[in-house]
Amino acid sequence: MKTIVNTIILKGYDLTPIKSNILIDDGKIVEISNEVFEGEIIDGTGAMVCPSFLNAHTHIGDSIIKDYGDGKSIEELVKPPNGLKHLSLSNSSDDEIISSMRNSLWDMIKTGTTHFIDYREGGLKGIKLLKKAAFDIPINPIILGRDPIFHDKERSEDEIRKITAKLLKNCDGIGLSGFNEVSKEVCEIVTKECIKRDKIPSIHVGEYLELQKKSLKETGKTEIERAVNLNFKLLIHSTYPIGNDLSLISENNKLIALCPRSNGALNLGIPPIRNFIEQKINMLIGTDNIMLNSPNLMREMEYTLKIMRAYYKKYIKPKDILKMATVNGCNKSDDNLDKKSLNFYSTVNKTVIEEDNDAQLFITKLISKNPYLNIINRVETDNIIAIINKDKFLYLNNRK
Ligand SMILES: [Zn+2]
Repeated sequence: MKTIVNTIILKGYDLTPIKSNILIDDGKIVEISNEVFEGEIIDGTGAMVCPSFLNAHTHIGDSIIKDYGDGKSIEELVKPPNGLKHLSLSNSSDDEIISSMRNSLWDMIKTGTTHFIDYREGGLKGIKLLKKAAFDIPINPIILGRDPIFHDKERSEDEIRKITAKLLKNCDGIGLSGFNEVSKEVCEIVTKECIKRDKIPSIHVGEYLELQKKSLKETGKTEIERAVNLNFKLLIHSTYPIGNDLSLISENNKLIALCPRSNGALNLGIPPIRNFIEQKINMLIGTDNIMLNSPNLMREMEYTLKIMRAYYKKYIKPKDILKMATVNGCNKSDDNLDKKSLNFYSTVNKTVIEEDNDAQLFITKLISKNPYLNIINRVETDNIIAIINKDKFLYLNNRK
C-alpha cells in the first residue's frame, strides 16, 4: 500500500489536473482525496502523476538496426520479404535480437510507457522471441503477429486459416503489412479469425498518397475504405485520407494509430490530425519502426504538437495530443460501441486515473506551469521518479 501525497494528478478521461493524494494498493487506485495517508508515503510535492502511455504502434524487432539505411525509400527499407530490414534481421542471431529488444523495452519504461502494440513479424518464433525478451520487465506487450506465408500467393486458404488460428493462440491479434503484400482472401481470413476470438485485426493503410491512388485504380476503393469494409479494428497510419475516408473511420468507430515521426523520417508527409479531431475520430499514437525512431512517446508528442501547429497555422491543444498516448486507448462508459469493440478496447488498455481502476501511471517532476506541456515539452528521462504498472512499482533514477 502506497500513498502519493500533495501532488498534481491528471484525473479521469479529460485529464483534469487536481491537487490531491492518491492511494494505490494491490495494483488498484483505491482512493483519490486530500484526506488519505496510508501505507508507504511518497512525497509528491513539486511532482505530478500522469497516466502511463500506450505506444499504439511499434516494430520492436528492428531494434538491432537503428538508423540503418537512412535515405532509402520505404520499399527499399521495410517492404517484406526483401526490404533491407528483413534481410538484416535474417542475418542476426536470436540472442542479438532479444538483447536489443530488451534495450528498447527499458527505453519505453524509462519514458513512461507501460503498454505497447507491436507488429511482430517472423510467425510464432517472432512472438516467442518478444515474450522471452519481456518476461521480467514491468511492461505489457500487446502482440499482433503475422506469418511469412501470408505473403505467399501459392498457399491455400485452409493453410492460411490454420496458421492464423495457431498464431492467435499465442498473441493478441494479427498485424498485416498492407494491401499490396497480401491478398483479399488473406485479409478476410485474418479479420474473421480474429473477431471470432475477440482478438485485434490490424493493417497499415494510406501511409502515402500513391498507395491510396493505386488502390482506387485497381479496386475502385481507397485502402482505408477496404480496411473498414473488411472489418479491421485498428488502422495504422491513415496519413492520406481521401474522399469519404474520414467519415467512414468515424461512423464505424475505428481506432487509428498515427506515427507522425515515422511519416516525417520517410519523407511521406503529415497526418491531418486537426481534421481527425473535428471528425471525433479516436486517435492513438505510435513510434513505428525502432530502426527509424526511439520508442519515446514524449518525443513523438512534441514533434506532433508543433508540426501540427506549423502545418495548420492554428492552435492545437496539448491535452488532445496527450490523450492520444493515454486515455484514447480506453473505453469510456458513454461510448456508443458494439460489444466487439468493447472487448477490443479492454484488450488494449485501461489507463484512466480514477478510483477502482488499475494503477497504470508514472510520477514525474513538475518543471513547467502547464502540466500537459510539462509532459510534452519538458520531461526528460531522469525527471521521472517512478512508474507503476498494476502491482509493479519501479523507482527510476535511484529515486527511492
Ligand atoms: Zn508500421
